[in-house]
Amino acid sequence: MKSITIEVSSRQKTELIDITSEVQQLLDGAGFDNGICMVYVPHTTAAVTINESADPAVARDIIMVLNQVVPWKAGYQHMEDNSPAHVKASLVGESVNTAVAEGKLQLGTWQGIFFCEFDGPRRRRVRIHLING
Ligand code: ZN
Repeated sequence: MKSITIEVSSRQKTELIDITSEVQQLLDGAGFDNGICMVYVPHTTAAVTINESADPAVARDIIMVLNQVVPWKAGYQHMEDNSPAHVKASLVGESVNTAVAEGKLQLGTWQGIFFCEFDGPRRRRVRIHLING
């Protein structure tokens, strides 16, 4: 297994950032042809998901619904005052796995990989684990 860390800078409090091209460039640079690409977010207030990248309104709608499901004020007990970000991170999840064939991420036509910021703006790390197959 080969592991590479990339950095992502968020600009908003809550933001979905399409990192598909960075991940694909990393595969190209590593000469990784076939296997599994795991994208892992080592943070407690950020996450990663795969969803539509063709229409940016989809990412905005996902944020809108997450903000409705997880309100900013709800009598949270965590004293850091960022519990909504922790809850959203757990709902969305910390990793995605994508097959790689002949050096290309095997995503659907409309799919992209999104880093999900829930407590930005911050500089974040994303770990890419390449598992030969
Ligand atoms: Zn916290």
